[in-house]
Amino acid sequence: MRALIVIDYTVDFVTGKLPCGEPAIAIEDRIVNLTESFVNGGDDVIMAVDLHDEGDLYHPETKLFPPHNIRGTEGRALYGKLNDLYDANKDRIYWMDKTRYSAFCGTDLELRLKARGITEIHLIGVCTDICVLHTAVDGYNKGFSITIHADAVASFNEAGHDWSLGHFRHTLGAEVLIDGKPLEN
Ligand code: ZN
Repeated sequence: MRALIVIDYTVDFVTGKLPCGEPAIAIEDRIVNLTESFVNGGDDVIMAVDLHDEGDLYHPETKLFPPHNIRGTEGRALYGKLNDLYDANKDRIYWMDKTRYSAFCGTDLELRLKARGITEIHLIGVCTDICVLHTAVDGYNKGFSITIHADAVASFNEAGHDWSLGHFRHTLGAEVLIDGKPLEN
């Protein structure tokens, strides 16, 4: 059994308050196609979406990044066509707020996956070298098989993006796919 986890593909992370910009805009169609195919295949689909409260003195990210994905703001909406797809399939897609980089941290994600007998997680979204990476590391430590769709992850940091793709494969044992096919060498 497999699940798709769509990480932080929101307005703020694509074009808003903490934007990946062009690389994130460029993967919109692939993100939507993959999400659609998992939904239509009856697989578990999870939107893991960063959530912050304005001026939260106790949150470690407050010192590190400009305010982003603030509760109740437009910036937390899913970006572009993914938002339309989510609206049309709310009964088949699980919206999961998260407050740290990893989608496993402080959420019921692990319990949800285990309850459904899911052993294989597919990760897409942004940023490759922050929230996707930390989710992959936690997934590895919890014993999940991991697949990363390299054509559906992006970062504002190109070097970090490239490094992460190697780390997924060589250190976390993940399958890294482009257009559904494994990367060569
Ligand atoms: Zn954040």
